[in-house]
Amino acid sequence: MIDRIVVASKNPDKIAEVEEVLGGLGLVREIVRGLDWPDVEETEPTLIGNALLKAHAVRSATGLTAVADDTGLEVDALGGEPGVHAARYAGPEASYSDNVTKLLREMEGVKRRTARFRTAIALVDESGRELTVEGVVEGEITTERRGAGGFGYDPVFSVGGRTFSEMGSEEKHRVSHRALALRALAAALGADPDRS
Ligand code: IMP
Repeated sequence: MIDRIVVASKNPDKIAEVEEVLGGLGLVREIVRGLDWPDVEETEPTLIGNALLKAHAVRSATGLTAVADDTGLEVDALGGEPGVHAARYAGPEASYSDNVTKLLREMEGVKRRTARFRTAIALVDESGRELTVEGVVEGEITTERRGAGGFGYDPVFSVGGRTFSEMGSEEKHRVSHRALALRALAAALGADPDRS
């Protein structure tokens, strides 16, 4: 079990999900909150590269084991876009809603709606040792927003006929890219992956 860990993100939605899933995995004794660090620009072309960049930067700034997540949405009919650029799909200052609106517009009239969320997670421990894992969930882009929960593209990403926004957080954590990646991390670190 890891003694203390910091979640290397400034996105409160992401932090909440990582904390909820990590909390159930028996992987860490304490998730340290309330720390700050200089913003990290995601300059790498891959999810793993960006996750490593963030985890190393936050480990250096805090001296603590850091866990970072970088997530992409790959839409088959759009040649894998928005991919690693999911946060800035509709422009550098785009809101979640702007990005969803752009995606729905790009997918107007498109029959093939398969897509996947892919999350890379990097853990860098206090001595600088790296561990990386990935989680993938297959789904479909709906033709309109459905549901009130979640964040980002959740209102238009559906698994088994329900969007992530229509699921409660427990249900999302049973199938989501981020939860799968965190369970893979727990398994790689030797924790019991069936606890959550
Ligand atoms: P990031 O580059 O990992 O910060 O995330 C890219 C973007 O993907 C975010 O800004 C969100 O719009 C979206 N995203 C990440 N995770 C999720 C999720 O679990 N559900 C819906 N959208 C997500």
